[in-house]
Amino acid sequence: MKLLITGGAGFIGSAVVRLAMARGHEVVNLDALTYAACLDNVASVADQPGYVFEQADIRDLPALKRIFAEHQPDAVMHLAAESHVDRSIDGPGAFIETNVMGTYNMLEAAREYWIAQGRPEGFRFHHISTDEVFGSLPADPSVMFTEDTAYDPRSPYSASKASSDHLVRAWHETYGLPVVLTNCSNNYGPFHFPEKLIPVVILNALAGKPLPIYGKGENIRDWLYVEDHADALLLVVEKGALGRSYNIGGENERTNLDLVKTLCGILDAKRPRADGKPYAEQITFVTDRPGHDARYAIDPSRIRDELGWRPSVTVEEGLDRTVQWYLENEDWWRALQERDGVGERLGKSA
Ligand code: NAD
Repeated sequence: MKLLITGGAGFIGSAVVRLAMARGHEVVNLDALTYAACLDNVASVADQPGYVFEQADIRDLPALKRIFAEHQPDAVMHLAAESHVDRSIDGPGAFIETNVMGTYNMLEAAREYWIAQGRPEGFRFHHISTDEVFGSLPADPSVMFTEDTAYDPRSPYSASKASSDHLVRAWHETYGLPVVLTNCSNNYGPFHFPEKLIPVVILNALAGKPLPIYGKGENIRDWLYVEDHADALLLVVEKGALGRSYNIGGENERTNLDLVKTLCGILDAKRPRADGKPYAEQITFVTDRPGHDARYAIDPSRIRDELGWRPSVTVEEGLDRTVQWYLENEDWWRALQERDGVGERLGKSA
């Protein structure tokens, strides 16, 4: 397939690009290269035949129409978004413009192209979204987000993603555009931008800085290794049922405090502190994020039962691989940390 992948220079998008190329697909990587992007994430495939990069902004409808007409993709995987909740609290405007208006532009460009092509049956518009659209869960472990959970977004980020999900479903119901949707839990793994929780913990630990944890660290998240997410996304774009949405999760619930302690333990083993003390000594509790959802947990039974997907690594293996990757790729994260305005987000209210 020729896949038009938006946001392919970001964290998850680049994992999808690398896996798609490894599986023999052609890729058109469309990315505006915002602060969150890094073309090094796709350097391993950039010179391969079948890979094209298009620097374009999804807020620019004429540019999107040109790219569809020129490259004639068989399917779209739409990941481009503003993705950092803390940034959405500081400046929600960009989230509305990119996540809502940008998705509207993608839908319109895709619809025009699909009609011009004679409405090919196999065409797919795959919209990639988050479990944060469902709001917050109680602590009771038997309650999880399913595809039927009512939307209840609570941050500007999740509200903008919820809006985009609704637009995608409306374009299917109203215009018949062949869409599939996925809502995934928190991802982690190689190439994760250094402002997000797991990289912040690893890199601050190594730098001897405090390890910031919001509130008491009791918020629960379900963690999924990014390469398992990329695998699930390729399965859905190829085999997902039209108009259907799939929740993707790793069934790995952890409190933030447990997660940080696990990372500290891995670092203690791989790169002991010079003074021999445990990295957990660096844990610092910071003022909680406003509207911080208590718990997210995904019931992934639909994608498991209907499409046969399962994550390939446990969270312990995935975290181990992730720490190892950061230890081995200092040039990558140092360059991003030195970008303007980066690295001061998480825990800035300490
Ligand atoms: P990211 O911030 O790492 O990457 C986003 C990419 O989109 C960047 O390369 C950026 O340059 C690009 N982009 C941003 N605005 C753009 C615009 N206007 N035009 C074109 N490109 C633009 O994000 P991520 O963590 O890789 O997330 C990718 C997608 O997956 C998002 O849609 C996000 O909502 C969703 N998602 C993320 C997670 C997670 O844990 N990170 C979980 C579930 C779903």
